[in-house]
Amino acid sequence: MNAPGRATIADPVARAMQILAHDETHAYEAVVPPIAQTSLFTFASYAEMEETYRGLKTRPVYTRGLNPTVRLFEEKMAALEGGEDALGFASGMAAISSAILAFVQPGDRVVCVEHVYPDAYRLFETYLKSMKVSVDYVDGRDVEAVRRALPGARLFYMESPTSWLMHTHDVATLAGIAREHGVLSVIDNSWASPIFQQPLALGVDLVVHSASKYIGGHSDVVAGIVIGSRELVGTVRSRIYPYLGGKLSPFDAWLLLRGLRTLPIRMKAHEASALHVARQLALHPAVTEVYHPGLGNTLPEGLSGTSGLFAFAFDDSIDIARFADALTFFKLGVSWGGHESLVVPAQVVRVQAAGPNSAIDFGVSERVVRLHVGLEGQDALWSDLARAIEEARRD
Ligand SMILES: *Cc1c(COP(=O)(O)O)cnc(C)c1O
Repeated sequence: MNAPGRATIADPVARAMQILAHDETHAYEAVVPPIAQTSLFTFASYAEMEETYRGLKTRPVYTRGLNPTVRLFEEKMAALEGGEDALGFASGMAAISSAILAFVQPGDRVVCVEHVYPDAYRLFETYLKSMKVSVDYVDGRDVEAVRRALPGARLFYMESPTSWLMHTHDVATLAGIAREHGVLSVIDNSWASPIFQQPLALGVDLVVHSASKYIGGHSDVVAGIVIGSRELVGTVRSRIYPYLGGKLSPFDAWLLLRGLRTLPIRMKAHEASALHVARQLALHPAVTEVYHPGLGNTLPEGLSGTSGLFAFAFDDSIDIARFADALTFFKLGVSWGGHESLVVPAQVVRVQAAGPNSAIDFGVSERVVRLHVGLEGQDALWSDLARAIEEARRD
C-alpha cells in the first residue's frame, strides 16, 4: 500500500496511544490537566507586561488569543496528525472557514472535490461567491480531472471519504498535483481521524477537523481544529484567527483532551462494528448498495482503517420513515462520532435542501440512509437493523 516516499502507517493505534500517554506534570500533581477557565491572565509586573507586548515573551494574555488548556489540545492534535502547529476553533465550520479565508482573496479560484460536507459547500456557494471567489467542483476520484482543474487555482479543498457517498480519493497523488501547481491543499479529515489517515504525511498542506465528531467522541462538544506547518498555521493565526474570533473555549478543550485519551480504541471499535453491520446490509435483499470504503479487498490508498459512518440504499420495498421509527439503538439525529448509533435518511435532508434558504442541490438519492455505528455492540446493532427492516416492508 505504501509507495516509496509515502508515509508508512505502522500500527497507528499504538503510535497514537504513545503520543497521548505522554503528559507533563500538571499543577497539584493532577493526572488530568486542570482547566484554565479564565478570560484574562495578569502580569506580575509592568516590566513583564512590556516584555510580553514587545513580543519578547510568549505567554497567555487573553483567552481569545492564547489559553493553556486550548494550547495543550492543539499540541496533542498537532502530534497526532504529524503537524508542527495547530489552532483550536469553536466549531468545525469555524476551522474550515478560517483555513480558507486566511488564504483566498477576491478574484481567486478554489477547486473543491464533489460531495463535501454540506455546510462547507454552502459556505463556498454563498459567502465565497459573494467575495468574488469562484469555486469549481471536480470528482476527486478522477485524477485527470483534478489535474486539468488545478492550474491557476489558489486553493484545493478535499474531503476523503466524502460525506454521504463515501467516495475515497488518492490523497497523496492529488496533493502532489496541487503542490506541483503551487496550489494550497486543505483536507477535512473528520471521518478517518488521525488514527486512520494522516494527510500531512501524504503531502496535504492543511488538515481541518470537526472535533465535534470522533475527536470529542461523546457528543457533548462542538469544536474544530486546523493543523499544518508552523508557517501556514501561523498565517491563519495572524491574518484571521483573533478577528473572526471563533476561538475554542477552555472547557471544550478540556472535554476534547478527555475524548482524545480513548480515541485510538474507540476508532478500532467503531471500525469493527460498522464493518460487521455494513457486510450484513450488503447481503440483505432489500439493500441495493452500501457506501462504505472498507468493503473491498484492500483499503483505499492512504487509509489505514475505517470508521463508523457510512450509508446504504434501500430498494422500493422498504418504507424508510417506518424503518427509522422502528429502530431502537439507532436514534434519529444528525452529527456522529459519539458512543451512540444514529440514523439519518437522505429523504428528510432533501426536504430541507429544497427549502427557500437552501443553496444546495443535495445530489444523493432519497433511497439512501446514513448510519453512524456507535459502541453498543455489533450483534445488538445488527439485530436492531434487521428487525426494523422487516417492520418497514411495504406489503
Ligand atoms: C460536522 C462536520 C463538519 C462541521 O463541523 P461542526 O463542528 O459541526 O462545525 C465539517 N466536516 C464534516 C465532514 C462534518 O461531518
